[in-house]
Amino acid sequence: MKLFSTYADKIRAAAEALRAGLLVAFPTETVYGLGADCFNPAALARVFEVKGRPRFDPLIVHIAEPDAVDRAADVSLLDSQGRRRLALLIRRFWPGPLTLILPKQDAVPDLASSGLPTIAVRLPAHPVARNLIRLSTGAVAAPSANPFGYLSPTCAEHVRDQLGDRVDYILDGGPCLVGVESTILDLCAGEPRILRPGGVSREELEALIGPVSVSAASGAEASGAPRAPGQLKSHYAPRTALSVHPRDEMIALPCETGEARLFFEAASRDIWLGTLACRSLVPESWTPVLSKRGNLAEAAARLFELLHFLDGLGASRIRAELVPNRGLGPAINDRLIRAAEKDG
Ligand code: AMP
Ligand code: MG
Repeated sequence: MKLFSTYADKIRAAAEALRAGLLVAFPTETVYGLGADCFNPAALARVFEVKGRPRFDPLIVHIAEPDAVDRAADVSLLDSQGRRRLALLIRRFWPGPLTLILPKQDAVPDLASSGLPTIAVRLPAHPVARNLIRLSTGAVAAPSANPFGYLSPTCAEHVRDQLGDRVDYILDGGPCLVGVESTILDLCAGEPRILRPGGVSREELEALIGPVSVSAASGAEASGAPRAPGQLKSHYAPRTALSVHPRDEMIALPCETGEARLFFEAASRDIWLGTLACRSLVPESWTPVLSKRGNLAEAAARLFELLHFLDGLGASRIRAELVPNRGLGPAINDRLIRAAEKDG
């Protein structure tokens, strides 16, 4: 394993490695991805193996230009409504944190889509990711660069700590700006449907293409068996026991020795500290806030970084405050709820 920073020659070397069937971890605006050439079944198989990811959990194919969507997907199989929506979405949200489920192109190995006739495609906004993809075969399958089920990596150190020598290259592009994964939108089944809330909000999508439904297995509604591949209850989980609480509950729950808390905003943390006089029981650094002023985009960008930090403290438990359910809120709450369901 080599830890690289993001110079052009290093990106070129990493792209060569991808072409040779090796695995390259790279930065995107959402989280770090573990990339493999999308047309190389052996490399794809290694992605599942390195992550410990079940083969029934399909991968997202990353492309560098809108036109390259045809390399992964056969958009002629969409109906005219679907093609119209696709054009609008690409123009408005690509590059960016939106993954689209489209009919799969035959050239893409079944392993990438876990045997489904559809494929997930995204055009990331990070310049390192785009250059890497451009210089490789133009289509890179990449799940998040973490062991399956564990917290997603939002900086190169997270990848190194979690996957280490099991990855051939790590491109270091600094911390991820969005910090939660892409929104996954299914365009193949009638009315567009959000399969996973993420960096583009439902409100933004509906403003562009009209009504969008939300899969019952996503967000706060998550429960029971997965209804679509990969939508497993437990995901993004820290090793420390974690529970989630609505704001009122979070503020009212007395403090226990050894616990750490993650607050949405400074206001809720201050009330908690004030009313319960917990200062002597919990070190200040053990009660971070996602965003001082309650900005949801900032909260999303810091979520995994702070969960990684809290998970490293050796706390007996982490209590996390749920955030308001608007904008990026459902994406944040989805990650928190799944993180809390590790043992469920
Ligand atoms: P990630 O773990 O971030 O790589 O996201 C991949 C997720 O995208 C999977 O866990 C699935 O939930 C979803 N996904 C990928 N391909 C498909 C597909 N063809 N149909 C439905 N969901 C998909
Ligand atoms: Mg993942």
